[in-house]
Amino acid sequence: MMNYTENTKYIDIINEFRSLIDFINYKDVIVEKMFQIIEKHFEFQAAGVFFNSPDNLEINTLELAVKNITIDTDLIENKFFQSMSEFKQIIKHKTELHIINRNTKKISVNNELILPFMFSDKLIGGICIFSDKDILKDEIEIFNFIINEFLSIFKLKYIYAEQVFKSSVDGLTGLYNRHQFDISLNQEFNRSQRYNTPFTLAMIDIDHFKRINDTWGHQFGDFVLKEISKIIQHAFRKTDIVYRYGGEEIVILMPETDSEHAMLPLERLRQKISSHDFGGKNVTVSIGVADYKNNNSASEILKSADNMLYQAKNSGRNKIVV
Ligand code: GH3
Ligand code: MG
Ligand code: MG
Repeated sequence: MMNYTENTKYIDIINEFRSLIDFINYKDVIVEKMFQIIEKHFEFQAAGVFFNSPDNLEINTLELAVKNITIDTDLIENKFFQSMSEFKQIIKHKTELHIINRNTKKISVNNELILPFMFSDKLIGGICIFSDKDILKDEIEIFNFIINEFLSIFKLKYIYAEQVFKSSVDGLTGLYNRHQFDISLNQEFNRSQRYNTPFTLAMIDIDHFKRINDTWGHQFGDFVLKEISKIIQHAFRKTDIVYRYGGEEIVILMPETDSEHAMLPLERLRQKISSHDFGGKNVTVSIGVADYKNNNSASEILKSADNMLYQAKNSGRNKIVV
């Protein structure tokens, strides 16, 4: 039977975790608060928290709290992601894990705990704790209790992130959707205004797409859209973000790039598409380009790009107009 003080201990823990829910959308805050919880209940020399993101865009980052500054964090990180990728749970007690620091001094940690968290067959994150203290037998119950609370937070955060991701992405092409574009365009404009940096907007429209649909069927049209989206995504830098603006219109936001410098990759893209084999058929695109420098508002840039696209169409298609 649990006694009164034990009871309040568990209630305290539940409340600590409940308060985390308010910060489910703020990774930094949640990470910091998780370390506070770990700190309160475990003695550790290094602890880590990792959230896997549903968009697969975020590089694997292990948030680390290190007490003993001589610990080799690279080694911890490698060990952690190794066991994450294998979904391997590691709980070692009194092992001879020697962590070698950068000054080649050795410190030993007896207990090594690496826990990947899974949710419907997906890796959603994990935690690790490295400690030179043993977990005592009568602490194991509370330890398991805390780990389960952690798992709940990881699930909640993952579901939330997944919903945010789904609501910003177009189902057919996998590109960001119009809603996300509107948000990003304004952000990009504000950033350029504040830091006086360039950015370019390119609007791409498939030529005679109605005819493609009418001649070869809607399914072939969908295939063309997906194929072109893939080509565009691979043709640009990671910082250039591609959006499906409307039916067969795709826009690219290129931060830190003026229209002059945008021309080279865009021209390469235009050629790549026109020479691409779409199941034995050829497809071309027209592109309208505008940049921050020559426009006074986000909507003005969009309008300029649209005007340039219109000109590209009127002057024969398969063209770029700046
Ligand atoms: P232009 O060269 O002037 O751009 O001519 P267009 O035929 O491409 O332009 P228009 O705006 O007349 O036609 C666009 C077509 O795109 C009409 C619409 O049915 C088709 N479309 C829009 N969204 C989709 C989609 O998701 N899948 C398919 N297959 N077709 C789509
Ligand atoms: Mg169109
Ligand atoms: Mg078109």
